[in-house]
Amino acid sequence: MIRLPAYEQVRDDPVLYAHASRVMHGETNPGNARALLQRHGTRDIWINPPPIPLTTREMDGVFDLPYSRLPHPEYGKANIPAFEMIQHSVNILRGCFGSCTFCSITEHEGRIIQNRSEKSILREIEAIRDTSPNFTGHISDLGGPTANMYRPACKDKKIEQACRKPSCVYPGICPNLNTDHQPLIRLYRKARALPGIKKIFIASGLRYDLAVESPEYVRELVTHHVGGYLKIAPEHTETGPLSKMMKPGMGTYDRFKEMFDKYSREAGKEQYLIPYFIAAHPGTTDQDMLNLALWLKRNGFRADQVQAFLPSPMSIATAMYHSGKDTLRKVSRNSDSIAIPKGIKQRRLHKAFLRYHDPANWPMLRSALKAMGRGDLIGNGKRHLVPSFQPKGTTVKAQKPETAGKKRFKTQQTHGTGRTHKKAGPGRRNRARRK
Ligand code: SF4
Repeated sequence: MIRLPAYEQVRDDPVLYAHASRVMHGETNPGNARALLQRHGTRDIWINPPPIPLTTREMDGVFDLPYSRLPHPEYGKANIPAFEMIQHSVNILRGCFGSCTFCSITEHEGRIIQNRSEKSILREIEAIRDTSPNFTGHISDLGGPTANMYRPACKDKKIEQACRKPSCVYPGICPNLNTDHQPLIRLYRKARALPGIKKIFIASGLRYDLAVESPEYVRELVTHHVGGYLKIAPEHTETGPLSKMMKPGMGTYDRFKEMFDKYSREAGKEQYLIPYFIAAHPGTTDQDMLNLALWLKRNGFRADQVQAFLPSPMSIATAMYHSGKDTLRKVSRNSDSIAIPKGIKQRRLHKAFLRYHDPANWPMLRSALKAMGRGDLIGNGKRHLVPSFQPKGTTVKAQKPETAGKKRFKTQQTHGTGRTHKKAGPGRRNRARRK
């Protein structure tokens, strides 16, 4: 076992907190994780290693239990938006080997994927079809923490058990990772062929760097499972913040977009990618946000809801936020500090960059651009980020207080026509947004 610094020490010392977080995240592989021990006052707390992942048979055992598929009777006839969202969606797996630092799904569900069998998933779709009173033939999602991690796994059990890497897909896809998407393609085809099923959407977040490994999968997805818009999460355009999130660079986004556009064209469908970004993530400078805003403008995206990173329990990014240290590397008092956007002023500025098109943000952006020596981006031409004038009646709106939890935002793309496309209809909500 490993003894962590005592609770009172990590409470009072951000560097020790960062160190403890780093140690804890190193012990997430059930094949080799050691127990953790931490002193709390006069007692020790023992933290068991993560459990051994369930086999497919065991997963089926859990998912085949006779659930009512209804909200708890205590709610009576109340309208529950969360229920509306999930009642016709099917969970096909648990776990995620992506390990994005702002997310704690690895701590909740593990890094080794636990898959249901095809038969069990198809049975659940049939049960929805046969028992849900308001089912119209549309399955709103066939996914999990990450839509396209059904079946991919380390090629060798022994290597997997010994592995201490935090992610199988960062900084690049591990050569030991089996990226075969065939089982998922087969599942989609069988699910679509079920009588009474008109459409199956894939609304869970997609790991697009994994998806580009299988053009056939992207074709299948784009041709049959996108309802006009597909939300994906590059999270940022700049290497600095992306490296602190453990997310792939924009090169992979471009490759995915190329495939998405090509297969949409071939299917004769007008479909759009909707990228999500995070403002004020640890490791993000004002310059990074400016570059992201310029990318959004260049690509014709207008975010209609913007919220910034907020630390969530147990995540690696939370340890960065609290300590100011890069906890992806060894942490010490002398280790490098990273940029941490903190304080209402800077966080508002980062959000404002994402909504550079909102006149309410222009006064703040003008003064920031001047302070950054980028007054050349103020003006009324195409190459400018914000206009030099303030339209009448566009006073600065009162900012809403920030709520807890990591938030994303939705984007709309104008495609250079000035037209704003409608968001996707019901059922296109992304499961990743629910994490
Ligand atoms: S060796 Fe590679 S594929 Fe296998 S568990 Fe480690 S990171 Fe993942």
